[in-house]
Amino acid sequence: MSMNRRDFITSTAALSGVSLLTSLLPTKLLADVPGISAAAIKPELLSDARMAPTRLGIDSRIWNWHKNAAHSGPMPMNWYEATLTEWPSFGKLPGDQTCDVVVIGGGLLGVSAALHLAESGRDVVLIEKDNIGSGASGRNGGQITPGLARWEAETMADNLSPDEANRLWRFASVEAMELVDELAARYDFTCDRKRGHITAAVHPGHMGVLVKNADARRQLGDSALRIIGSHELQEMVKSDIYHGATIDSIGGQVHPLALLRGMAYGFCQSGGRIYDGTAVKTIQDTPQGTVVVTDFGTVKAREAVVLAVHYATEEFLSNGNTTVPFYTYVAVTPPLPVHELLPADLPVYDTQLQIDYYRAVRGNRLLFGGQGTGNSWSPRDVNNYLLERIRTVFPQLHNPELEYSWSGISDITLNGAIDARKSDGQIPRYLVHGWSGHGVAQTVRIGKAISDDITGRNDDFTMLTRIEHDEIPLGKYLGPVAIPLVKGALSLKSLFNPAEVVSF
Ligand SMILES: Cc1cc2nc3c(=O)[nH]c(=O)nc-3n(C[C@H](O)[C@H](O)[C@H](O)COP(=O)(O)OP(=O)(O)OC[C@H]3O[C@@H](n4cnc5c(N)ncnc54)[C@H](O)[C@@H]3O)c2cc1C
Repeated sequence: MSMNRRDFITSTAALSGVSLLTSLLPTKLLADVPGISAAAIKPELLSDARMAPTRLGIDSRIWNWHKNAAHSGPMPMNWYEATLTEWPSFGKLPGDQTCDVVVIGGGLLGVSAALHLAESGRDVVLIEKDNIGSGASGRNGGQITPGLARWEAETMADNLSPDEANRLWRFASVEAMELVDELAARYDFTCDRKRGHITAAVHPGHMGVLVKNADARRQLGDSALRIIGSHELQEMVKSDIYHGATIDSIGGQVHPLALLRGMAYGFCQSGGRIYDGTAVKTIQDTPQGTVVVTDFGTVKAREAVVLAVHYATEEFLSNGNTTVPFYTYVAVTPPLPVHELLPADLPVYDTQLQIDYYRAVRGNRLLFGGQGTGNSWSPRDVNNYLLERIRTVFPQLHNPELEYSWSGISDITLNGAIDARKSDGQIPRYLVHGWSGHGVAQTVRIGKAISDDITGRNDDFTMLTRIEHDEIPLGKYLGPVAIPLVKGALSLKSLFNPAEVVSF
């Protein structure tokens, strides 16, 4: 069904229950999305997953697996896509355009930046190579934990002045989580957001590290961590492999693709334009301004360009790369008595070198993720590895099975923090990468910080750019060599110092 702009506005307001918001934005409400209804953009979760071919174009290096999908057939949906109603493609860039800000990359970072800019009245074009959510944002573990990639409270306290550490911790914890909640409420979408998170110690010596972490957070004004012993933990997680844990009332979980689609819905409602199936080839400075070049036309930016392409950032840098990409994996079981395994319904991270993370998800399934590899593992190797981990954590499952699994790519910096940059010049370029397999909530918060910087609201983004990074020339070629070497060195360290928390 195709709708004109007026119908779209009316039905969007009625459907979303945000008529107050829409009435406050009379002049610039919706982008022209021919043939796409508001209801089709607003994410709706299904009670359980289905099995169907994916409609997301994904990077050729990564894959989705489903136990009933033919090996040579179309690639199946991952569990996140399979638990959402159909979502439209927005169409390729229809020729040359001009706007205030061009955002490149339709993941959580790009969509959040685009949404906040559009809400501030900027004319924004969002360009995505494949589909919204094709990258890590539609493929992650859905655990939302505080911190800035690998920078926890202690690292912030060690590297920054007390005021700066305090501010950065708040930004990367409470503010990030609250923003996720605010956006879901503002646009009235469901994304299975739940509060509370467990970090479980796999060695008695790791309890000391968890206490230290709780103390460092308290020093930064955060008293959300509670330390518990193994008996209390066993009331929450029916596994006897842990020695205690911290319970974090700030952390939690979310259906990341529902969150992302919900923000994209908000962006369209606020007048934003999305073009997918459109890879950006280069960004050029011309006498007429900064121009983003694609095979289907160009987009001229009057005010700024935001590069939100995660591990693909290096393709846009002539030098000064700071990250190495790596592969990582998630699986979902068929329905099982998952609430008997996780009676407190809290997601879990552990403290081992190659962490296990898991949580109960809708349809009474267990979502379980882990590993970081320099080369892409096959579905068979990943499934064997994750099944072995599930059996280790929950031996009472006897013969667990997987129904979905998939791979994804993230990237790491040498110091473990994200690398955030803003170029000089009349039309600044913003970029953020180096997520280290973390960042579901922080991408959303940093997207807002980019918007606030462009609109002159505050200097949150400048705070992020002050973190210094070492260069890693040709980082994208280093993964297959560097990742196993680093992991090998860390394994040895952990072997000789098992009480020390060493994580990849
Ligand atoms: C398997 C896995 C598990 C994870 N688990 C967790 C977790 O449990 N908790 C957590 O906090 N974090 C987790 N993460 C990390 C988290 O997903 C990322 O930090 C976050 O999604 C990064 O968002 P982004 O928008 O920067 O990047 P992405 O979501 O990767 O989006 C980048 C987008 O840019 C597009 N793009 C690339 N090149 C171009 C181009 N030339 N032109 C146009 N578009 C382009 C891509 O197609 C993609 O859609 C995980 C990551 C992975 C891979």
